[in-house]
Amino acid sequence: MSFSKDIVIAGGGMVGASLALQLGAVLPPATRICLLEGFPLPAPLAQGRPDYHPSFDARSTALSYSSRLIYEKLQIWDELQQWLCPIASIHVSSRGRFGSSLLQAGDYGLGALGYVVENAWLGNALVQALYRQGRVEVRSPVRVLAARPRDGGMRLQLEGGEESVIDTALLLVADGATSGLRRQLGVAVEEKSYRQHALVANVGVAKPHHGRAYERFTDQGPLALLPLLPAGGAAHRSALVWSLAPVEAEHLQACPAEEFLQELQQCFGYRLGRMCQVGERHCYPLSLVQSAEQVRQGVVVMGNAAHALHPVAGQGYNLALRDVAQLGAVLEEALAAGKSPGDIGVLQRYLRRQQPDQARTIQFSDYLPALFMHSDPVLGLARDMALSGLDVLPPLKREFVRHAAGLAALGGDMGGRPGG
Ligand SMILES: Cc1cc2nc3c(=O)[nH]c(=O)nc-3n(C[C@H](O)[C@H](O)[C@H](O)COP(=O)(O)OP(=O)(O)OC[C@H]3O[C@@H](n4cnc5c(N)ncnc54)[C@H](O)[C@@H]3O)c2cc1C
Repeated sequence: MSFSKDIVIAGGGMVGASLALQLGAVLPPATRICLLEGFPLPAPLAQGRPDYHPSFDARSTALSYSSRLIYEKLQIWDELQQWLCPIASIHVSSRGRFGSSLLQAGDYGLGALGYVVENAWLGNALVQALYRQGRVEVRSPVRVLAARPRDGGMRLQLEGGEESVIDTALLLVADGATSGLRRQLGVAVEEKSYRQHALVANVGVAKPHHGRAYERFTDQGPLALLPLLPAGGAAHRSALVWSLAPVEAEHLQACPAEEFLQELQQCFGYRLGRMCQVGERHCYPLSLVQSAEQVRQGVVVMGNAAHALHPVAGQGYNLALRDVAQLGAVLEEALAAGKSPGDIGVLQRYLRRQQPDQARTIQFSDYLPALFMHSDPVLGLARDMALSGLDVLPPLKREFVRHAAGLAALGGDMGGRPGG
């Protein structure tokens, strides 16, 4: 059996679910939109902590100010508030060296420098908002096995639902960094391995974090501890993202909790007191993956499938959300002008508008690990100077915060932002 839609989103992870919400909000009700996710999504009105999902997993995400603006427009920011821990300040330091810097939200007229949310709760909130909105047909678990051009649009082969074929004017590929559909469509990728894994875990600490995030650069790689809300009897919690050589990361993922906490304590120090508890540990190999093509007639590659970044600057998802908002705006204009959503001219307009933001953000995310991980003494000195410089040169610090908050992309300054 087959059916047809105007727009199909393949992949209902954090980006695919946000895309569905955005398009459902801005496109006319007559536009038929469908979201296909290969893994079971949370059920409508699901209560309690959601079950495991590959995108809404044990990680946490630091949402930037630009993401807040997008979610406010989608009217889900208020709903998200209960899961968000605002970042009041960021302490940046370099292990065994003299440079350090403190960035404080209040100094930039910002209520917060970002907002940390556990992916499990963010994913559930997005999916529940989609069900409430009721504009997009959500099908899961349904996998898109193959896609090929047909009549100016795309024909998809499906597995898992009642229908095995779907025709669409526009296919939005949001199936993650290792995108099978991207490969299937013959889209080339540029990949640069950082030869590191990110070891991720929630950690219980003895002292309150007071909304402070820590970014500590070590010779093995950057270590971030992001503030989390209390949960499960742990009053003081932080989300750890520790970039390490793969062998080291795999060892620390598998070793006994006491050994792990001891190693972490030694590397991070006692700014948050004693490390008392660690939750599930997961490893993610780190690469910069960029799709060589993002648009074709009837196809746009989105999210991690388009660009997967090093997590050190917490930019990947925030950038993907700005892509989502831009695509929504371009499609809204195109449909109002009577164009097909898959029209290559329309899709190229999206890319032209969004490419400067993508280039700037990818460069920023790639620059930080390169500068801070190097064992070269000259680069070591450069990183100390960068950290000290950040502290003594207010314009440099301001520029750094503008990038981290996603404000550079919005062309905004930082005066008079509303409180978090
Ligand atoms: C350790 C770590 C920390 C991070 N921290 C931050 C941060 O603080 N801030 C930030 O902005 N970014 C952060 N990121 C980046 C962020 O996690 C990614 O940008 C985000 O996960 C991308 O989501 P996605 O939906 O594109 O891909 P994924 O999350 O990979 O989702 C892809 C989805 O597609 C589905 N799928 C796959 N194949 C098919 C198919 N054939 N048919 C149907 N469905 C399919 C999968 O089941 C999955 O649900 C971090 C990344 C890492 C690794």
